[in-house]
Amino acid sequence: MAVGAVIAGVGLLIGERRGRRRKARPAEPKPVCGCTHHRALHDVDDGICHGTVARQLWNDRNLLAGMEHVPCPCRRYVGPEPISSLWTPPLLTEEGNP
Ligand SMILES: [Zn+2]
Ligand SMILES: [Zn+2]
Repeated sequence: MAVGAVIAGVGLLIGERRGRRRKARPAEPKPVCGCTHHRALHDVDDGICHGTVARQLWNDRNLLAGMEHVPCPCRRYVGPEPISSLWTPPLLTEEGNP
C-alpha cells in the first residue's frame, strides 16, 4: 500500500516536471538586424536603417581624437521577423461591423 503511494507520488512528480518542460518555450529571437540596429530603426517602405554608427577619428599623429556618429550604411533589415508581423488579423467586412 505504502509502496504504491510512493510510486504514484514519483509518477506525479515526473509528470509535473514534464509539464513544466513542455510549457517552457524557446525565447523569440530579438528582432535585431545584421547592422546591430533594432528592426524599429529600419524604414517600413524602403528598409533603410535610420540608426547611427560610431566611427573613430584619428588625428595626423595617429592618435585617437574622438568618436563621430555617421548614418548607418544598412539598406535593408535582415534580422529575424517577429511572429506578430507575419500574421495580420483579417479585416472586418461591412457585415462584420456592428
Ligand atoms: Zn540594418
Ligand atoms: Zn543600422
